[in-house]
Amino acid sequence: MKIISDIQELRDHLRGQNRASFVPTMGNLHEGHLSLMRLARQHGDPVVASIFVNRLQFGPNEDFDSYPRTMQADIDKLEKEGVYILFAPTERDLYPQPQEYRVDPPQQLGDILEGEFRPGFFKGVCTVVLKLFSCVQPKVAVFGKKDYQQLMIIRQMAKQFALPVDIIPAETIRAEDGLALSSRNGYLSTAERAEAPALQRLLNEVRSQVLNLNERNVEALTTIEKNAVAQLAKRGWSPDYIAIRQQSDLAPTSNENLQAGEPLVILTAAKLGKTRLIDNLEI
Ligand code: AMP
Repeated sequence: MKIISDIQELRDHLRGQNRASFVPTMGNLHEGHLSLMRLARQHGDPVVASIFVNRLQFGPNEDFDSYPRTMQADIDKLEKEGVYILFAPTERDLYPQPQEYRVDPPQQLGDILEGEFRPGFFKGVCTVVLKLFSCVQPKVAVFGKKDYQQLMIIRQMAKQFALPVDIIPAETIRAEDGLALSSRNGYLSTAERAEAPALQRLLNEVRSQVLNLNERNVEALTTIEKNAVAQLAKRGWSPDYIAIRQQSDLAPTSNENLQAGEPLVILTAAKLGKTRLIDNLEI
């Protein structure tokens, strides 16, 4: 595997490749990331991965400085997956000047859910992803459904800018007890780690409650959401949101749409101690 930090050197290595598939990450790789590498291999060749902890997408009080950086272990894992190039730019490589041009996703998608609790997050994500796409120029790029809203926003960005890249979604990989794998799981204490799967269990419960409704209407969904938030809080979590939304645009749904069989998704973010976990489940 070639490890490259310089944009020009990356371009030189990829010259003439028009089927590259790309997996952007922030490193501290786990099985979830590796499943994306395997999916990428099915959709293109060569596979290019990136590791870059993107300052632009972290809020002032978030974990940019303490975000786990485990480059050597990550390299070993990517070697085993047969990744052809690891693009691991430094901040100076990717942002040689302050990044003043940024991609601002539409409010109705970028400022809800994660965007409400992490202002500017999706602006930082879109900006770095557009720039990484420009560096790698892949034919396809793989993103996890674990970050459901992010996947949707990147898809819309690619569509609206007519980027010549197909966005491929990857299923969420979970630990045996159901907890979605995440680099931030490493922040959990032993007791918190034992409690953490409660989040996915709750998503499953919420899904059952929705499926068991005699009639789906907005009022019933709101009651289910409120009860779920209360249940998490009772277990000692600090929930940011548990929201049942339309899969198509993540907006709150209407009785009319519900009657027409609108597909739904449950999205959640909640803090357990100092660790903020997110998860989602399609209905
Ligand atoms: P990150 O390093 O957290 O920025 O994640 C890089 C990519 O891996 C994103 O597309 C994530 O959605 C995806 N990802 C993170 N966790 C998982 C998981 N448990 N299963 C599948 N994909 C994941």
